[in-house]
Amino acid sequence: MRVIDDMTAILTGLWTTWKHILRRPVTIQYPEEKRIPSPRYRARIILTRDPDGGERCVACYLCSAACPVDCISMQAEEGEGGRRRAAWFRINFSRCIFCGFCAEACPTMAIQMTPDYEICRRDVMDLVFEKEDLLVEHCGKDPEYNFYRHAGIGVTQPRGEGEGEKPTVDVRGLMP
Ligand code: SF4
Ligand code: SF4
Repeated sequence: MRVIDDMTAILTGLWTTWKHILRRPVTIQYPEEKRIPSPRYRARIILTRDPDGGERCVACYLCSAACPVDCISMQAEEGEGGRRRAAWFRINFSRCIFCGFCAEACPTMAIQMTPDYEICRRDVMDLVFEKEDLLVEHCGKDPEYNFYRHAGIGVTQPRGEGEGEKPTVDVRGLMP
């Protein structure tokens, strides 16, 4: 019965419309009104510092290796006290897909995602962020963590003297 089918389709459509007509709209008047995303929202990337104010990034290249679109590049150098860091660090946000793989791969918690989604630029070249644009003056999501206190082995402290680090083993003592 074609007429019944047609009427059912029309009434179903009308029912869907009426069902939503009295609901609160989800639309907001951006940019006057701004939605606050969850703290875990993956938007603008930052490079954080450890609690002593030092740069957390040790220029290990793991984030750039993990990045599926190859939008992270850097150059490693040795800083004060032999501490390794990035001489320059660049993220091309025009390619970034905000997948978060870089933050997952980072062993020092240096690179972190933030909920700041307002990084649109008119000129695409302005979406290339250099280290000075990325490096912030705080610790980000983990204010206590300091990679060098745990694993700055042989760089900022002798081997076996890091926090929670087991003493070194004298391999000669293991010989028969
Ligand atoms: S969020 Fe994903 S795409 Fe963006 S820089 Fe990190 S790994 Fe690359
Ligand atoms: S941000 Fe993290 S993963 Fe990337 S180079 Fe620096 S320490 Fe390594």
